[in-house]
Amino acid sequence: MREPAEDLRSIAFCLERALEPAYRVKAFRTAAGVIDSLRRRELEARSAAGTLTDLPGIGKVTALVVTESLAGDEPVYLRRVRTLGDTAVSAGAAALRGALKGDCHTHSDWSDGGSPIAEMALAARALGHDYLVLTDHSPRLKVANGLSPARLRQQLDVVTELNEQLAGDGGRPLRVLTGIECDINLDGSLDQEPELLARVDLVVASVHSALRMPSEQMTARMVAAISNPHTDVLGHCTGRQVLGHGRGGKGRPESDFDAEVVFAACARFGVAVEVNSRPERLDPPKRLLRLAVEAGCDVAINTDAHAPGQLDWQVLGCERAYLCGVTVDRVVNARGVQELLSWTGRAGAAEGPER
Ligand SMILES: [Zn+2]
Ligand SMILES: [Zn+2]
Repeated sequence: MREPAEDLRSIAFCLERALEPAYRVKAFRTAAGVIDSLRRRELEARSAAGTLTDLPGIGKVTALVVTESLAGDEPVYLRRVRTLGDTAVSAGAAALRGALKGDCHTHSDWSDGGSPIAEMALAARALGHDYLVLTDHSPRLKVANGLSPARLRQQLDVVTELNEQLAGDGGRPLRVLTGIECDINLDGSLDQEPELLARVDLVVASVHSALRMPSEQMTARMVAAISNPHTDVLGHCTGRQVLGHGRGGKGRPESDFDAEVVFAACARFGVAVEVNSRPERLDPPKRLLRLAVEAGCDVAINTDAHAPGQLDWQVLGCERAYLCGVTVDRVVNARGVQELLSWTGRAGAAEGPER
């Protein structure tokens, strides 16, 4: 038996994976939420009477999806979007993807993501992950609704509660780990209270401002952040945006910095270099990723997902990592929860279900 809500969510997932804007996807996720609260019998009656669209949040398109789904057919809309954003990958990339156990850089609607934490968690579970690190933005990134210390504290409680629910719902084990994508301030300090940076499970440090700073200053700024004992992952290190993708597709050049110095610092301070899988970022570029590998850096192959379907982008990062000589033993998110937490130095705070 097909579940209409599941079909609606699958459509949303495929659209998100294809980098469709949130507003275009929202109707499907909203409709799924409405359908969740109704009994199948009522849905069938409404479908037969043509009154599905009387329900708030159900329009013509979503009503058709529900009707087709109730009849046991794959909705036409779902069939159309299923292969959107699908990319052929090499066997090496597929093997690397198969070894990944989680994602260390994701956003929810607490900052600039489009979906609640729980929806992100369920999508991560469906992808076979053991963990998902929630890394919403830090306070100074106001355009992305960055979390104040008070809101981050509140989020930590929400995650604890969600993990209890997930552990008890009979599904496969998935743990939401706490984290932050912390802005690297102009002076290289991190944009959050040290107490909170120590408390969360993982810290991604990223440059989001003054991307055109002269190389010498940018290098010093990045090295200061890398040497900060709270930093675990260096996010999208060049800040570039590839032409033709995403918001307007204008593209953005790489920041200037001394990559040898920055990657040597990552290797020395045990900070993983992120392979950012977002199609419009694909950061670092291959020549720099090769340099990071040569420098002996660990890497984290992350999606930087702002919607559930974007969690499926990891394979794009795996393709680049494979091409640049990254081996599984160097990938921090190919490690299990406990191993990851002992690497970030938060193993003492670990609790909850273990596989
Ligand atoms: Zn970022
Ligand atoms: Zn991010």
